[in-house]
Amino acid sequence: MNIDIMTLFPEYVDYVLSESIIGRARRAGKIDIKTHNIRDYSEDKHRRVDDTPYGGGMGMLMAAPPIARTRDAVIASRGYTSESKVKTVYMSPRGVLFNQKVAKELASLEGIIILCGHYEGVDERIIEEAVDMELSIGDFVLTGGELPACIVADCVGRLCDGVLSDPECFEKESFSDGLLEYPQYTRPYDYNGMLVPDVLISGHHENIEKWRHERSLELTRERRPDLLKDDQ
Ligand code: SAM
Repeated sequence: MNIDIMTLFPEYVDYVLSESIIGRARRAGKIDIKTHNIRDYSEDKHRRVDDTPYGGGMGMLMAAPPIARTRDAVIASRGYTSESKVKTVYMSPRGVLFNQKVAKELASLEGIIILCGHYEGVDERIIEEAVDMELSIGDFVLTGGELPACIVADCVGRLCDGVLSDPECFEKESFSDGLLEYPQYTRPYDYNGMLVPDVLISGHHENIEKWRHERSLELTRERRPDLLKDDQ
């Protein structure tokens, strides 16, 4: 899977996505994440990419032409055609809320091109022309789309083939089956007088599965009842 991130801060994004599991997956060629500096596509002699908003108001807006040129360069470098399964995503507080279901949809594509906004955002016309989906990571406002893009790239990246050692890792975790994950324990058996539940050391797999499912349901009912479907 290809993930292309268009940003004014490529080093920042690259640094975050070079560590741990995602960093290793990139180095092993399991996912191909590239960053693209929108400023490189400015035709202004000072490499400006922003301007004041028409109609007045606070702050600056990222102009459409450098973003369009960056995206064109990404599409050309990847060899995408109109047949390619690729989506351009703009990280935005007014977008659809990002969740595991959206992550799975994105992971099934050939590639995603992520646009990180900055300042007060981007000229609406680039969204109309080039963006397939606006995605928010929550009801709050950050200074830029770089952290949200890293979150999307991390979450989508770990769903790609060969990134995690065992697909069971994400088949049995929070949200994958509509439930929150059950509590987990590792050594030592006795931590400050708190013991590991007996069932987990019983070796009885059926009982362990049943206990985990019940704890998952209990936690979901308590913390996220909105996730529960009618049949559970
Ligand atoms: N004026 C915009 C608004 O009110 O919706 C906020 C702009 S914000 C200061 C700058 C950039 O940060 C946005 O263009 C977007 O790319 C990114 N951003 C901020 N909060 C975000 C969020 N919750 N989810 C996704 N992206 C976000």
